[in-house]
Amino acid sequence: GDVLRGVEETATQVGHAIAGGAFDNSLRLGVTGLSQAGKTVFITSLVANLLDRGRMGGLQAVSDGRIDAAYLQPQPDDTIPRFEYERHLAALTGPNPHWPDSTRQVAQLRLSFRVRSGGVLGGLRGARVQHLDIIDYPGEWLLDLTLLDKSFTQWSTDLLTAMARRGYAQAFLAALAKTDPDAPHDETRAQELAASFTDYLGAARAAGLPDISPGRFLLPGDLAGSPALTFAPMAHKGQRGSLGREMERRFEAYKTRVVRPFFRDHFARIDRQIVLADVLGAVHAGPDAVAELGRTMTELLSAFRPGRNAWLTRLLGGKRVERILFAATKADHLHHGQHAKLTALMAALLRQARDRADFAGAQTEAMAIAAVRATVEDQRPHGSEMLDCVRGTLADTGKQAAFFAGDLPEDPMALIGPARDGAAKWLDADFGVMQFAPVGLSRRPGDGLAHIRLDRAAQFLIGDML
Ligand code: GDP
Repeated sequence: GDVLRGVEETATQVGHAIAGGAFDNSLRLGVTGLSQAGKTVFITSLVANLLDRGRMGGLQAVSDGRIDAAYLQPQPDDTIPRFEYERHLAALTGPNPHWPDSTRQVAQLRLSFRVRSGGVLGGLRGARVQHLDIIDYPGEWLLDLTLLDKSFTQWSTDLLTAMARRGYAQAFLAALAKTDPDAPHDETRAQELAASFTDYLGAARAAGLPDISPGRFLLPGDLAGSPALTFAPMAHKGQRGSLGREMERRFEAYKTRVVRPFFRDHFARIDRQIVLADVLGAVHAGPDAVAELGRTMTELLSAFRPGRNAWLTRLLGGKRVERILFAATKADHLHHGQHAKLTALMAALLRQARDRADFAGAQTEAMAIAAVRATVEDQRPHGSEMLDCVRGTLADTGKQAAFFAGDLPEDPMALIGPARDGAAKWLDADFGVMQFAPVGLSRRPGDGLAHIRLDRAAQFLIGDML
């Protein structure tokens, strides 16, 4: 079995090398992050701004005037859903502007550039075509890599131990206590347990915990209701024909039929990666949420660590992601006077994640961006002073209002260092009520969507290829 699998994987690698990357002029950019991090908004705005380029001066090829044209093309992968760019852009810029539907599965889009190389020779050589394949995928699915290292028994033991400490796991643990793993397999019982386990994972996500795998339980894509998604951890695995044994079989099926294909077909082919994180939301929620975000970033980053998993290392065959950008999104909630502090916090989280994941290799960077800028800057009297705030249109009432989110600490260690549980609260002013609609994105033809540092992010990710 293993030998055959090795042959199959080598063939897949050669196939991938031919289809994308090694021998042609295409670059694959992965976009990930947990649910609600801002993937859909990021891709929609990136594509709109690369098509128009009026606000992309931070991209060297644009400021050099070397991009002759950019256009959407059919993607090379016929069986992967296309990223619904037109629908998402219409949501943002239509007559009733609203945020688009979020990422639920893998999607892809190809953008192509006609670009002239720099320098005297480049001018003589004429234009070439560079393809950019953008791959949108849930960060939850990346966290499943840890499952590949574990047997059903190990996974169950680790998870049940962690659950014992968590109040919101009690409903599932009670259901499990009433279940005999040695009883004959019963589909109704299996479905009840899986549903209860899914509720637990939903509660873990709501609490900001990173151990929300199996990731497909929360974001099933087209696998909802299938046996590979109808299992739960068990105290022991039981004998042949038992419920426990069937759960183990399904856990293994999840690994081989769901996790491995995702890493083989999508992850293994990525050249550049952006990881989006809702850092401001975590800061507002408090030090525990920031600590959990830090752990999630460590987990996500370690998926890119060469040698992290033997199977994956074999599959990659030495190929590695060259650049990874960690971006704190939604920076338009803050006046620009605080953006440097947000960047410093993201950089500190990244440094911590690199240390913990023992990560080396790819070039990494941290940034604060807003893929879509839904606010303008404003000032508001506060006592005898003026407060730097942002003004936007509230999503629920449609009314304009100016808000002050609250302060970020000058030193990020106040949030992630050992003394983080001190009295200070951050972003504790208006942040909680700042639900802006994407209104008034002032879109003149050729301009692109308003953003903050999206062009700088693009320069880091793809600038050298243009
Ligand atoms: P996904 O689950 O990662 O695809 O996340 P989305 O792209 O759907 O973004 C989730 C939500 O975050 C959106 O519905 C917006 O409310 C908000 N959001 C995302 N990006 C931005 C941004 O650049 N600025 C602002 N103000 N809000 C954003």
